[in-house]
Amino acid sequence: MLAEICEHFVEHSDVVVSEQGASLRSEDWAIDVTTADERLMIEIRTENDQMLAATRTMFAEHLFYFAGDEPFTLEWSIPAPKVRPPGFHEATVVGSKIVTPRMRRVILAVDDVTPFVGGDMHVRVLVPPVGRVPVWPKLQENGRIGWPEGEDELLVRVYTIRSVDQEANHVSIDFLQHPKPGVATPGADFARDVEAGQRVALMGPGGGSLPAAKSILFSGDETALPAIARMVEEAPVGTTIKAIIEVEDAGEEQAISHGEPVSVEWLHRS
Ligand SMILES: Cc1cc2nc3c(=O)[nH]c(=O)nc-3n(C[C@H](O)[C@H](O)[C@H](O)COP(=O)(O)OP(=O)(O)OC[C@H]3O[C@@H](n4cnc5c(N)ncnc54)[C@H](O)[C@@H]3O)c2cc1C
Repeated sequence: MLAEICEHFVEHSDVVVSEQGASLRSEDWAIDVTTADERLMIEIRTENDQMLAATRTMFAEHLFYFAGDEPFTLEWSIPAPKVRPPGFHEATVVGSKIVTPRMRRVILAVDDVTPFVGGDMHVRVLVPPVGRVPVWPKLQENGRIGWPEGEDELLVRVYTIRSVDQEANHVSIDFLQHPKPGVATPGADFARDVEAGQRVALMGPGGGSLPAAKSILFSGDETALPAIARMVEEAPVGTTIKAIIEVEDAGEEQAISHGEPVSVEWLHRS
């Protein structure tokens, strides 16, 4: 299990494996894991309590993922308080608009947009069942996220914060409509049917940001388009940018600018 964890975390941190266990180091946290009999002893160090809580939850989720179906328990010297998970933000739908025939923009009001400015840009969007008072996730003592079940089960999908309006405390997310006959597309449908005043939640941001490079080549389809467009807009002046983006047809092309027009090669799937 530790070997699998190390292999996975190479993408996110510096990993040093020794006979005693492993050390994982990122900009934000240090995690030392030592092996003892059938156990892993884990020590997490961060600069502040907020980051400690976020790192514990992140690592706890990974541990259970890599434990798979094996019996596995996790205890911390100080159990996690049963509060909302790190990075949890309630949001209220302000409205929506049609960006292109297959792309809906949903505008959300949050109390504080600061966490969404710069840096990581992806979030989990949590949508409660229509007509029910939302029941939001809470931390469990082992640091994992406890999700509501049954009638209160949430729809959870990953999206990109397309833009942030710091004055209004609004964030926007672009949802691709990808209808398939006979197949439910709950995330896309939420954006299609959304109404002002609806309550949702965001968890994050995480999962990547603008790379620090003088020259960047982007490639992706419509689900990557919000991230590509945002990264282009946020790239420092002077960055050389080229993007290759596949969309359904000419109607799905969007203006992407970086002070001046950016070189985009649009590929039409149809
Ligand atoms: C880091 C990250 C950021 C993302 N950002 C965005 C974003 O900003 N905007 C956005 O629209 N999407 C984004 N996505 C993709 C989005 O999470 C998925 O498309 C999601 O599965 C859509 O949920 P759904 O409920 O509509 O469909 P699902 O219930 O997940 O899937 C229903 C059916 O549709 C198919 N399907 C799912 N997604 C697509 C698709 N994109 N194209 C064609 N068929 C599909 C599935 O294979 C399945 O058969 C992002 C994904 C990641 C990992």
